[in-house]
Amino acid sequence: MVLRLYNTLTRAKEDFKPLKLNEVKMYSCGPTVYNYPHIGNYRAFMSSDILKRYLLYKGYNVAHVMNITDVDDKTIRDSKKEKKSLKEFTEFYTLAFLEDMKALNILTPDIMPKATDYIDEMVKLVQKLLEKGYAYKVKDGIYFKISSFKDYGKLSHIDLSHTKKGKRVSNDEYDKTNPNDFALWKFWEKEDGDVFWETKIGKGRPGWHIECSAMSMKLLGKSFDIHTGGVDLIFPHHENEIAQSEAATGKKFVSFWLHNEYILVEGKKMSKSLGNFYTLRDLLAKGYDAKSIRYLLLSTHYRQQLNFTLDGLDASKHAIERIKELVNKLKRKIDDKTKIKTQNANLLKNNLLKKNEHDKIHDKTHDKTITKLIENTKIGFEESMDDDLNISEALGIFFGFITEINKRTDNLSSKDAEIILGFLTHIDRVLGVMKFDDEEIPEEIIELAKKRQEARNNKNYAESDNLREVMKKKGYYVDDTSSGYAIKKIV
Ligand SMILES: [Zn+2]
Repeated sequence: MVLRLYNTLTRAKEDFKPLKLNEVKMYSCGPTVYNYPHIGNYRAFMSSDILKRYLLYKGYNVAHVMNITDVDDKTIRDSKKEKKSLKEFTEFYTLAFLEDMKALNILTPDIMPKATDYIDEMVKLVQKLLEKGYAYKVKDGIYFKISSFKDYGKLSHIDLSHTKKGKRVSNDEYDKTNPNDFALWKFWEKEDGDVFWETKIGKGRPGWHIECSAMSMKLLGKSFDIHTGGVDLIFPHHENEIAQSEAATGKKFVSFWLHNEYILVEGKKMSKSLGNFYTLRDLLAKGYDAKSIRYLLLSTHYRQQLNFTLDGLDASKHAIERIKELVNKLKRKIDDKTKIKTQNANLLKNNLLKKNEHDKIHDKTHDKTITKLIENTKIGFEESMDDDLNISEALGIFFGFITEINKRTDNLSSKDAEIILGFLTHIDRVLGVMKFDDEEIPEEIIELAKKRQEARNNKNYAESDNLREVMKKKGYYVDDTSSGYAIKKIV
């Protein structure tokens, strides 16, 4: 099956084909490290994570670059406010960002270049644009002359002919006399303090857009496969990246442009004044766990607006619990088998069990309908993901499978349990929500639950209630389900 991706450049779903067979080169616009990113930012990083994971799942080698913007107006302004050096200030928020990414189980990009480490590359790119006549120098900086680049607007399909002069002069990224021309290099001003580089194009600092062009082309080549970001970056940031890069190299910069939609919080645009502005840390402090947050962020198709609600987080938690319960049940089946195997081996050795009986109990049986179910689920999951990463549909199919298996857990052989567990793990290469190893239920608790079940089977309810209390004191409770019981940790 071919992966089809929606390309903002052509406004159509296209068959994905990397420039080099099996090698995908991908660039994602990263954070500006001047505070803790909010969940809207994490939606963008989660979208590129799902894309990357699915490319890996499909067998591609992926080189993923995500930049760290550690110099711009905001980082300079806020580092001064805190009376810290730019480096000290941005390093603090870079570390915080990396911690968040880890908590959300977002695969760490292969390279995370910092803008301040690539000033030479940016200067060279600006020099090239000056040489070729795409850039000009004025009093406060060097600007890109967008009228010189005939393809300007091909990504955002924007028509700039109506933009009036002076309309955007308040934003210091633009030339004051040609308001659509954006800054490539900004000459040093008093407010910049000690933040400047002495370079061949003058004393100053880079504009924001040039940083992504310089770093992506340095690390991935003049032309590469995928560039990702939020829809808010289509214009002007990505439009400007294309202009700078293609003007300088004369080559097509990026084949596929992928953009994720906005996030809403409780149905409203996220804003500090509405009190619905959340960082990951805010949500963790409220007692939500990172896995549920990850699940909620990934569960809506990336090109649809995502309504992030606290109810939605509860529903996500429930979805994760469903997977976890099944995983634990399957693990118990597999563990039981190991025990029976040892017991039977002893019986067999002492001639207390006949060979044919041994094979029967040994549990080598395998239900062929399970294999079929897995096959169909895998095909459905992949078909949905191949259709421009339709994750909501893929998750529907995946949970349909879980429901089906839950109906059968009583009769599963341990062999089948192993096969199903293997399949869940396989799908989790894309979802990244199943790492429960850190929360393994201790052997002692499992034994207590089994004893309690035995007591129940023998209608000894006093004993079963007693064992439930013992488990509770140890931090676990047990739920009776249609297919037996489930152990949960009390949180
Ligand atoms: Zn960027």
